[in-house]
Amino acid sequence: MKHIVAFTEGSADQADLLGGKGANLAEMTRLGLPVPPGFTITTEACRAWMASNGTWPEGLRDELRAAVETLEDEQGSTFGGTTDPLLLSVRSGARYSMPGMMDTVLNVGLGPGQFEALAATTGDERFALDARRRLLDLFGRVVLDVPANAVAEAVRPYLEKEDVKDPSLLSPALTRHLIDTLERLIQDATGSTMPSDPMQQLEMAVDAVFRSWTGRRARDYRRLESIPDDLGTAVNVQVMVFGNTGEQSGTGVAFTRDPTTGAPEPYGDFLLNAQGEDVVAGIRTTDRLEDLGTRFPGLHAELLDHLATIERRYRDMCDVEFTIDRGRLWVLQTRIGKRTPQAAVRIAVELAQHGIIDPAEAVRRVTPRQLDLLAHPAFDPAATVVPLTTGLAVSPGAAVGRVVLNADEAAAAADDVILVTTETSPDDLHGIVAARGLLTSRGGLVSHAAIVARGLGKPAVCGAADIEVDLGAGRFVVGDVTVHAGEIISIDGTTGRVVVGAVDVTTPAEPAELETLLDWADELRRLGVRANADTPQDAERARAAGAEGIGLCRTEHQFLGERLPIVQQLILATETPEIDAALAQLHELQVADFRGLLEAMDGLEVTIRLLDPPLHEFLPDVTELVVAEATQQLDDAGRRLLEAARRWAEHNPMLGIRGVRLGLLRPEIYRMQSRALAEAAVARLEAGGHPRVQVMIPLVSMVGELTDALEDVHQVFREVAEKAGRAIPYRVGTMVETPRAALTAAALAVHAEFLSFGTNDLTQMTFGFSRDDVEAVLMPNYHRRGIISADPFATVDAEGVGELVRMAVERARAVRPDIELGVCGEHGGDPASIAIFDRIGVDYVSCSPSRVRNARLAAARATVADSAELAWDV
Ligand code: PEP
Ligand code: MG
Repeated sequence: MKHIVAFTEGSADQADLLGGKGANLAEMTRLGLPVPPGFTITTEACRAWMASNGTWPEGLRDELRAAVETLEDEQGSTFGGTTDPLLLSVRSGARYSMPGMMDTVLNVGLGPGQFEALAATTGDERFALDARRRLLDLFGRVVLDVPANAVAEAVRPYLEKEDVKDPSLLSPALTRHLIDTLERLIQDATGSTMPSDPMQQLEMAVDAVFRSWTGRRARDYRRLESIPDDLGTAVNVQVMVFGNTGEQSGTGVAFTRDPTTGAPEPYGDFLLNAQGEDVVAGIRTTDRLEDLGTRFPGLHAELLDHLATIERRYRDMCDVEFTIDRGRLWVLQTRIGKRTPQAAVRIAVELAQHGIIDPAEAVRRVTPRQLDLLAHPAFDPAATVVPLTTGLAVSPGAAVGRVVLNADEAAAAADDVILVTTETSPDDLHGIVAARGLLTSRGGLVSHAAIVARGLGKPAVCGAADIEVDLGAGRFVVGDVTVHAGEIISIDGTTGRVVVGAVDVTTPAEPAELETLLDWADELRRLGVRANADTPQDAERARAAGAEGIGLCRTEHQFLGERLPIVQQLILATETPEIDAALAQLHELQVADFRGLLEAMDGLEVTIRLLDPPLHEFLPDVTELVVAEATQQLDDAGRRLLEAARRWAEHNPMLGIRGVRLGLLRPEIYRMQSRALAEAAVARLEAGGHPRVQVMIPLVSMVGELTDALEDVHQVFREVAEKAGRAIPYRVGTMVETPRAALTAAALAVHAEFLSFGTNDLTQMTFGFSRDDVEAVLMPNYHRRGIISADPFATVDAEGVGELVRMAVERARAVRPDIELGVCGEHGGDPASIAIFDRIGVDYVSCSPSRVRNARLAAARATVADSAELAWDV
């Protein structure tokens, strides 16, 4: 088997065999770019080396010798020769980029005989000495395992002596001494001398690069990035060129476009008389690429030409490492360039507008994660951030503010505050609305706090389990750090970090090209995108972000704030007049709520879910009331509340009297809501609007529950329509939130014109995981053990919950082929889940307004994902 491929033989589509760097070097050679000649030892050779525990595969040694001879012939110089010697670099290059994780050895072949010769050919003794010094340094550390700190210790006195920061700046005389010192260090540390035979140096360097693939650093990185361990690395052996041979030499990095803004102009910097590592080390300030044009106009023009060639070939922004060696330009490496989210959008759109890629490719090149970063403030990348603790990143964006520990204080605060609580309940809404951000110690991705924060587009970190809130003492504690109410903290809802003190926050500017990209996404996607919105303001925000209707209005969110006492009156009342009075008040308010929603979403489907949560959520905490009673602080009304709270208290409220169960026990509530909705629709019709009402029954698990609830809905709508003398367009449907509902979807579909998968509850009930409790504590542990790969409340569990959805979709369509099927659980805004739902074939996803644009992009990416992977993505 052939283990070595010359740059002149390979191409960009051979990244598996040649690694990313090798494939690109071959491609640039094919394009006629000035690449220093060389060859690649294949990843296959590395795999064979690994399989035989570090023994070289048969034939590799001979091939290596022959490849070097070919280079010698082409270059007209000899590896190990004493006049104008051939020197080589030996670099790793895996299939996927692993920056800084593997090793490189430069100046291989530079023995004592050669560096004197090099000084003679270049007429630059200092340069030649420095080249030898670099070889000893790298070879010692990388190949011979001399500890890096021993090398640094050996170098330090020399730097001090001449007061320079880097050994490349030492005088020739001192460099000679340093060379002796390094040679002695190698001898002492390894018991043998630095090999002087160039072929031996080369073989040892290749072996060291193979070894670096299996090293700790590289293994850890691969685990982090999910790169398989068995791929192996290629090794690129290339003729050395030098940027540090005087004022006619230099080195730099150039991008084909500006990686910060995406502007279509080349961008980069360079250093005169320097090697690549010097640029990275940052010991000197670099010059801008334009300055290269002043100094070397010919070379600058040549470089721009090459940049254009590279971008044409790769059809993307690339970066290029280049070196000028005594007036001659060399291109050492190219790859697809890293870029800011702003630049990612602009570049993708402009390339497509110029016909270089198609819109589908543009959509594939921008990730929902990048969109997230664009849409929300973030910690300034330049800021030093030392997290106090980390929680679940439940709602993106960064916020800075004064700590307040309860919702009332947050609502009353005049300045920016962060609400820090153990968890939140529906009656904390006013505090969440007022705060800049939300931090809780309990609760997961679908907890009340998370859903509300996401709905409001507020930064939030939940389930930060290390936090203990001590309300009585007015503080929270993390380990031995105490943070008092009133102190400033910063939270980052994109990463979950919590920081004491104010971190600088930057608000990104949205690129003008974003709307175009999203328009293309809309043309490409199959899935509809609706919003979970409870207020007209939410609905307007969602519509502006491109939502095509409301997939879920949680009406319980309309029962809070000033309305809470009316709801409590409804719960407490035992006499009909009292009940009717409370219902009448709520009815009037609900008509206004629904009118507002129907107006904001005029012409689009508005899915109103009838009341879902257990009633005790609207009552004060039993323990608090008991304490108040014990201390004689309860009046008559208080005592009635306590009685009701006791009556409605449940051991497992999530599995208790909620959803349709409550609807059937207290039918007057659903009737009131249905009537308000029907009347709101009539009002909209009379105002010339186009209301499209969908009434949704929650938490059904038996078909009888659905039919009983719908009987009332239909009757109320009939009555209102008759009274108004006009037909009201509406549809009825149900949520699928219990495994039984999914399994019996066919029976439900007989009566339901649409089904909406409530994957929050469906996940909770399929796993038996309490959605409010298990995430913060259990998930990290399960993740570490490898029991789960992703939090099932974040990304839908394809094999379990996803399978139930798939089955239900199939069964429901068999009964009612035109049934409308959507997902309104939080998974509807998660890109990975959206891809799963696209495959399952539901009609739409529904998510919080702040995730609508992401969902549009993710849905489009799901449809174009199958197209060929980019071979040159290194
Ligand atoms: C669900 O269960 O997925 C759902 C959307 O309902 P909620 O989160 O309000 O329980
Ligand atoms: Mg639910």
